[in-house]
Amino acid sequence: QLFMPLGFLGFVYREIRGSMANIENMFRLLALQPAVVDAPGAGALERTNGPVEFREVSFGYGGERPILDRVSFTIAPGQKVAIVGASGAGKSTIVKLLFRFYDPDAGHILVNGQDISQVSQHSLRTQIGIVPQDTVLFNDTLYENVRYGRVEASPDEVAQAIRLAHLDAFIARLPEGHHTLVGERGLKLSGGEKQRVSIARTILKGSPILVFDEATSSLDSKSEQAILASLAELAREHTSLVIAHRLSTVVDADQILVLHRGRVVERGSHAELLAREGRYAGLWRAQRAGERVSAPGA
Ligand code: ATP
Repeated sequence: QLFMPLGFLGFVYREIRGSMANIENMFRLLALQPAVVDAPGAGALERTNGPVEFREVSFGYGGERPILDRVSFTIAPGQKVAIVGASGAGKSTIVKLLFRFYDPDAGHILVNGQDISQVSQHSLRTQIGIVPQDTVLFNDTLYENVRYGRVEASPDEVAQAIRLAHLDAFIARLPEGHHTLVGERGLKLSGGEKQRVSIARTILKGSPILVFDEATSSLDSKSEQAILASLAELAREHTSLVIAHRLSTVVDADQILVLHRGRVVERGSHAELLAREGRYAGLWRAQRAGERVSAPGA
C-alpha cells in the first residue's frame, strides 16, 4: 500500500528538483546584461512621421568580420526605401539596428533627428511597425489575431484594417468568417495570408514607421499581387523600409539600396539602377529569367 504513494512522492521530488534547475537557469539568464540598455535619463522618442537616417553606420556581431561598413541612407517622411542584396549581405542586421537590438560600433541612427541610442527603447519600438518574414499567429480567431496590433481598437477599426490589408475577400470565404480559429490548433494559413494578417495588425498599430521584411518563400502570383496591394496601402501613410527578396516589391520604391558584403554599392530608383547596368540590373535580369522558367507563358 505504501509503494504507490512513495513512488509518486519520488516522482514529485524529481519534478521539483528539475524545476529548481530550470529556475536557476532562468535567474542566470536574467542576470545576463542585455546587449543594449537605455541611456541614463533616456526620454521618449517624440511622436514622429519624421525621417529615418543611418549615418556612416558600421557594425559587427563581435567577431572579426564587420557586417555593415559605413552604411548611410535617409528615408524621408512618407517615402519607401528598399534594400536588396544577396543572402548574408546584412539586410536584416540593418533592421535589428533600427530596432536597437544592438548598438552600432560606429556612426549614428536617427529617427526624426533624434539619436536612437538616447531615447527609451520602448518609445522607439512603439513608433515602428514590423511585418516580419514569418508571422506568429495565436490560437485564437482571425479577428483577435488582427486586434492584437492594438488591443484597445474598436471593432470598426479592426474591420477597416482587415479591408485595407485586402483580407476581407479571403475572410468572406471562411465558414465562420473572422470568428474562424487560426494558428496551430485552427485553420492553417498560407505564408501570404499570414503576412496579410500581419499587415492588418500593423495598420491597426498605426505606428509612423514601417519595416516590411519580405518572406523568402515563393508565393503564387495571386498571393503576391494581394500582398503588394496591401503593402501599397500601408506604405501610403508610412515611412517605409522594405527588405526585399523579390524585385517586384521594390519597383515603386523612392530609393533602392543594393547591399553587398555590408556596403551600399549602388543606390537609386529602379529605372536609374537598370540604366546603370550594374549589380541591380544583373539581379533584375536573373530574376526575370527565373520567373520565365518557372512560369512559362507568363
Ligand atoms: P538573408 O537575405 O539571408 O536574410 P541578410 O542580408 O538579411 O540575409 P543578415 O541576416 O543581416 O543578412 O546577416 C549578415 C551576416 O551576419 C551573415 O553573415 C550572418 O551570418 C551574420 N549574423 C547574423 N546574425 C548574427 C548573430 N546574431 N551573430 C553573429 N552573426 C550573425
